[in-house]
Amino acid sequence: MKSKKLFRFITGLWIGFGVLPLTLIILKLAYDGNISSKALTLFLLGLVIIGIIIVGICKYVYKDAKERGMDPYLWMATAAYVPNLVGLIVYIVMRKQFSPNIERLRCESCSTEVKGDWKYCPNCSNKLSKSK
Ligand SMILES: [Zn+2]
Repeated sequence: MKSKKLFRFITGLWIGFGVLPLTLIILKLAYDGNISSKALTLFLLGLVIIGIIIVGICKYVYKDAKERGMDPYLWMATAAYVPNLVGLIVYIVMRKQFSPNIERLRCESCSTEVKGDWKYCPNCSNKLSKSK
């Protein structure tokens, strides 16, 4: 799978050229006494929290995208690595077009399949209640 490789590649780039050098620089600064141990603790804590959030987003998007028949690795990369949660928002907006099985509304009276914007059931003329 091509997008799986892409996802791994981007993850590698992030860790190799982002997280790892930054951590080493901060550790060096702390070692030289340029920043306090409190700042170091805060940085490492922030790193762990961001890591947990990214893993959480990946797990959620992977499962969700798979259920909808979308490319899980491609969307995982988008959701996790486009900054400021923009990728995640793009995913949530885009996925609605891929969810034919999720929102299936039925008439309460005769169980005919109906669409969300219909006011009356075409089969039994029952007035449809607006379900979210
Ligand atoms: Zn009906």
